[in-house]
Amino acid sequence: MCRHAAWLGPERPVASLVTDPEHGLLRQSYAPRLQRYGKVNADGFGFGWYDGPRPVRYRRTVPIWADANVPDLAAAARSSCLIAAVRSATAGMPIEETATAPFADGPWLLSHNGRVRREAVRPLASDAESMCDSAWLAAAVFARLRAGLPVAGVLPAVVRAAAEHDPRARLNLLLTGGSHLAAVAWGDTLFTHLGEGVLVASEPLDDRPGWRAVPDRSLLLASPDGVSVTPID
Ligand code: GLN
Repeated sequence: MCRHAAWLGPERPVASLVTDPEHGLLRQSYAPRLQRYGKVNADGFGFGWYDGPRPVRYRRTVPIWADANVPDLAAAARSSCLIAAVRSATAGMPIEETATAPFADGPWLLSHNGRVRREAVRPLASDAESMCDSAWLAAAVFARLRAGLPVAGVLPAVVRAAAEHDPRARLNLLLTGGSHLAAVAWGDTLFTHLGEGVLVASEPLDDRPGWRAVPDRSLLLASPDGVSVTPID
């Protein structure tokens, strides 16, 4: 399982998810604390942030600790909506930038933490940029968002459809749109920390009090108006 994190709130650097916190994604890439599947997240990483309404990405297939550009880039890349992920590729999945989160379409950025049989997600989308299960899942979500359907309906619908074809699927998702973020907990850990803004992560980025586990099989929606967590049945 990969580890991922997102932020919505006052402008911050990507470093606030990756290098600044004691247990940020850099540390989680080699020493995650709550990872249930896989041990290290060394098969690539990605960042996404917003330059106005437009998302910008940086994706690599090397371990995050091996990229000497990361500290300066993560400190310079700032916005009020951020997403980052470190990857532990599922057996059989390609290692390439197009298989690495965040996936993008228009204003959207998406990361998947988990695994799902490719046959379960391929019927949900017409094409994907990689044969990686996560790329197909992202394509399924993006196709529905592009058709104008609301996030609150799309994420549960795609997760239910994938889980119906693959009951053992793990489908934790993070989705950002610039002014809001959404997350699904389905088969793996997910935590939030609410303060000046909303922090969502596979596992706590530090030992501050206030981290709360998001119940399994639920949808978290966050916007400047507030945060809601609802069960997905
Ligand atoms: N299945 C996805 C991949 O291969 C995500 C893996 C994960 O969460 N570890 O990249």
